[in-house]
Amino acid sequence: ERLNNNFQFIDVGRKDPAKKSLRARKEKFVEIYQPFSKKEVQEQSHRCLECGNPYCEWKCPVHNFIPNWLKLISEGNIFEAAELSHQTNSLPEVCGRVCPQDRLCEGACTLNDGFGAVTIGNAEKYITDTAFAMGWKPDMSKVVWTDKKVAVIGAGPAGIGCADVLVRNGVKPVVFDRYPEIGGLLTFGIPEFKLEKSVLSRRREIFTEMGVEFRLNTEVGKDITMEELLQEYDAVFMGMGTYNYMKGGFPGEDLPGVHDALPFLVSNVNRNLGFEKDPADFISVKEQKVVVLGGGDTAMDCNRTSIRQGATSVTCAYRRDEENMPGSKREVVNAREEGVQFLFNRQPIAIVGDDRVEGVKVVTTKLGEPDENGRRRPEPIPGSEEVLPADVVLIAFGFRPSPEPWFSDHDIQVNDWGGVVAAEKQTFKFQTSNPKVFAGGDMVRGSDLVVTAIWEGREAADGILDYLGV
Ligand code: FAD
Ligand code: SF4
Repeated sequence: ERLNNNFQFIDVGRKDPAKKSLRARKEKFVEIYQPFSKKEVQEQSHRCLECGNPYCEWKCPVHNFIPNWLKLISEGNIFEAAELSHQTNSLPEVCGRVCPQDRLCEGACTLNDGFGAVTIGNAEKYITDTAFAMGWKPDMSKVVWTDKKVAVIGAGPAGIGCADVLVRNGVKPVVFDRYPEIGGLLTFGIPEFKLEKSVLSRRREIFTEMGVEFRLNTEVGKDITMEELLQEYDAVFMGMGTYNYMKGGFPGEDLPGVHDALPFLVSNVNRNLGFEKDPADFISVKEQKVVVLGGGDTAMDCNRTSIRQGATSVTCAYRRDEENMPGSKREVVNAREEGVQFLFNRQPIAIVGDDRVEGVKVVTTKLGEPDENGRRRPEPIPGSEEVLPADVVLIAFGFRPSPEPWFSDHDIQVNDWGGVVAAEKQTFKFQTSNPKVFAGGDMVRGSDLVVTAIWEGREAADGILDYLGV
């Protein structure tokens, strides 16, 4: 029954779900938050002011109907909340876990004005987790099947978002991925302490039941050609991500003991999930002094994975200050609690060592004038060089697009930084220069967020439906 108190936001403060014990968090690859209880989520949801023109909805990249489903939760209508939540988002329980809410929905909540934002992300996660546990499934009974089928390359958030909208409109999606499980970076990137992998295997079952076909362990360009897809399917969607690792461009990056972030994280997931092909692929930092370079989500995930692997120490060096870090603030707090040492305003200039890495030479920076993106540029302070001792260095400077050699054979144009050109505003949304091919997610916008990839996949599906005349 709905709690009847219009001033709930004053009487009940913002509350996040409890975290597991620090001891467990430092050792185990499991999610760190306990789920909300029914009472907690109802109380928290009822704090929503139901603003007439809600900022949170506008700031959420998929424009979730947030106040509406918060109201449904506070009334105990979980199945209706789940239906509504799936009208705008293909993976709400994933976004609830991994979105940087402080920069998106919760950052825009009116209650930030002194009372504390509604815990939107955790409520979103609660809805779908609880509905699935109660036996809810997306309602496909009204779907009218067409004879159209679309090949989707990549089972990451963009590919899944696209397949979800297509299948709900009666178009058969066949999703190809080179990896053995769906999710893209959700499975082979983001660690279990933010997102347990059972969430994705459950999703694979649900989507399969809805009519999405997954062809895993299948790389387009190797196991099957684009030519075959273009012949066999009515359209193709590409959601292949960005997989070129950014380099620092300083001496010593090739020394043994220096690793790119993603291979380190993937080797850890592969071991935990039993996908490891060769034990030599595993990158262990146990009993090592680790220095992580970078300040985004990937750097935070390297920090916290290193702690769980039993590193002697984990130091994260970032060239700007804490305020200007690009990742989610929540994850910085979590990393610090788990024992990561942060060094701000430190720019790496060399990795030092004879036969293998022994340390990272950094220079202290101060923030200068804003660059073209409005972010203040770090400027080195002369004479401030120091060496941070390290047995292992993990480089998390981000990703650049990784265009395939076969793009040009099929008239798929890329821009000067390698991103696929897929116009958002064209007649057919997210169509590439090949009219039969659509694209979205990181490979179009550059590496970004799960929720923006989902949004582009869903929008591209709209474009495909228009193109197919469905
Ligand atoms: P991806 O998730 O990269 O999926 C692309 C898929 O395409 C992959 O499965 C790949 O195997 C497949 N593929 C590529 N080429 C082929 C081919 N030729 N044939 C078959 N399959 C192919 N975002 C957040 O919002 N919150 C976070 O906390 C967060 N943490 C992150 C942590 C890490 C370590 C990283 C690396 C990223 C993180 N991100 C986070 C960003 C987020 O994961 C990405 O923006 C998002 O996954 C992009 O989705 P996508 O579908 O475009 O690409
Ligand atoms: Fe917030 Fe992300 Fe959910 Fe949108 S999808 S409501 S931004 S947590």
